[in-house]
Amino acid sequence: MDSEFELVINGKTTGASSGETFQTDNPATKEQLATVSRGAKEDVDTAVQSAREAFESEWRETSNAERAAILREIATNFRDNADRLAKLDCLDQGKPLSNSQHSVNQAARYFEYYASAIDVTREDSIPVGSGYTDFTRREPYGIVGEIVPWNYPVQLFARSLAPALAVGNTVVVKPAELTPLTAIEMGRLIAESSIPDGAVNIVPGFGDEAGAAVSAHPDIDKVGFTGSVRTGQKVMESATQNLTPVTLELGGKNPYLMFPDADFDEMADDLVIACLSNAGQTCSAASRLLIHEAIHEDFIPVLVERFEELTVGSGVDDPDIGSLIGSDHFEKVRNYIEIGKQEANLVTGGRSTESLPDVSEGYFIEPTVFDDVSPDDRIAQEEVFGPVLSVIEFSDEEEAIEIANDVEYGLTSGVATKDIDRANRIARELRSGQVYVNEWYAGGIKAPFGGVKNSGFGRVKGTEALDQYSQVKNICFKYES
Ligand code: NAD
Repeated sequence: MDSEFELVINGKTTGASSGETFQTDNPATKEQLATVSRGAKEDVDTAVQSAREAFESEWRETSNAERAAILREIATNFRDNADRLAKLDCLDQGKPLSNSQHSVNQAARYFEYYASAIDVTREDSIPVGSGYTDFTRREPYGIVGEIVPWNYPVQLFARSLAPALAVGNTVVVKPAELTPLTAIEMGRLIAESSIPDGAVNIVPGFGDEAGAAVSAHPDIDKVGFTGSVRTGQKVMESATQNLTPVTLELGGKNPYLMFPDADFDEMADDLVIACLSNAGQTCSAASRLLIHEAIHEDFIPVLVERFEELTVGSGVDDPDIGSLIGSDHFEKVRNYIEIGKQEANLVTGGRSTESLPDVSEGYFIEPTVFDDVSPDDRIAQEEVFGPVLSVIEFSDEEEAIEIANDVEYGLTSGVATKDIDRANRIARELRSGQVYVNEWYAGGIKAPFGGVKNSGFGRVKGTEALDQYSQVKNICFKYES
């Protein structure tokens, strides 16, 4: 593996204009993994200039079919380098190797999916009256600035880039400072395709330097931000100066509502994926289990047994649960576990690296369940972003909906019941951008995704993402009669 990673600007790797670098570590061992060029405002300026040139001189004039062919070429480059990308993701982010392999496959799928989607888009013709022809065109914004978090660096890079490029934008990406390596590597692989130089630029660096320069840039036409509510507010505030439109994909405190007719074993298996994927560092994770009082007591032992079977270890050994991202976040999650012990009843888990049998270094926390959580408790309201589930009891449908909706977030939610009418009723009442019935994460990349309330606004995934990265122009012709 390379130990030095640079910016990718105008199709070439280059150091930061300041010459400065920063370090990225392996969270499973705390060892230094690589040295990364520290991009800042001047580098963002150069990247934007290069994106502008690529947009004006070439990319905006390409046909949908031409862009689709290039997106497919990029997907092939990712697949041809899948092992290397997955290993890099696993080492830099800490997730189990098979999850990183899945992420790389998903990244290729995003490019393939948007290649197909853009090639079959249609535009509207509007009957405004005799003697006129009125139609709409979807046009790219121009330059998209994309700011990406650390939890799914491979998938989130592709989730935003593929639709933005598909509709004809060029892009400047600011990856998270904790996980910059895969974005740089994917940027290099994109530069090896037939895409014009400068269509995709990668500027690694810190949020208040490179990130702030992206959100405040006067020549960026659209900002896509994925991350925390606090940073999302800052991004929106600075984008306001230039009236730059933003999409905000923020956090969640997502409820899974379980009714007495749900299958216990299926639900325990689903909660492993829903709550614990990526050690719970997932915006759309089910972090609250809302359970009917009639099954509460009987289900908890089934859940605890399932959670206690899971292995915790270094991502390269492909355990069930990998490491958390780094020291600050590790301490934050451990602090929430201490808060949880005061507020509720710890029924399993709670231990971290020094008390776990199979790890000695790094940032590990075992699957943790708090029972008898009250809806107002901090561990029921705040995003912990770790392998921690809060269990809350309800007595009827109405109460379940009220508890589910009574948080600041509204990203995803789920209902487990065999009663289709009930599921349908509840799905309409839940205030979230997506509802899963009987299987968390059902839907995949073709289903639109995004939040309501403090989980943000705008939709990614699905064909909705093509709308998100383009704007409508209406053209009306009057003919001589
Ligand atoms: P974060 O907000 O700390 O950072 C996200 C990105 O913003 C990073 O690249 C960071 O460098 C950059 N940034 C920081 N300060 C900035 C500033 N002042 N101006 C511009 N950019 C700045 O978030 P995080 O801790 O990396 O990610 C975790 C959060 O992301 C969680 O809340 C999670 O729920 C959320 N998330 C949401 C989604 C979604 O699709 N809704 C997906 C993944 C993660």
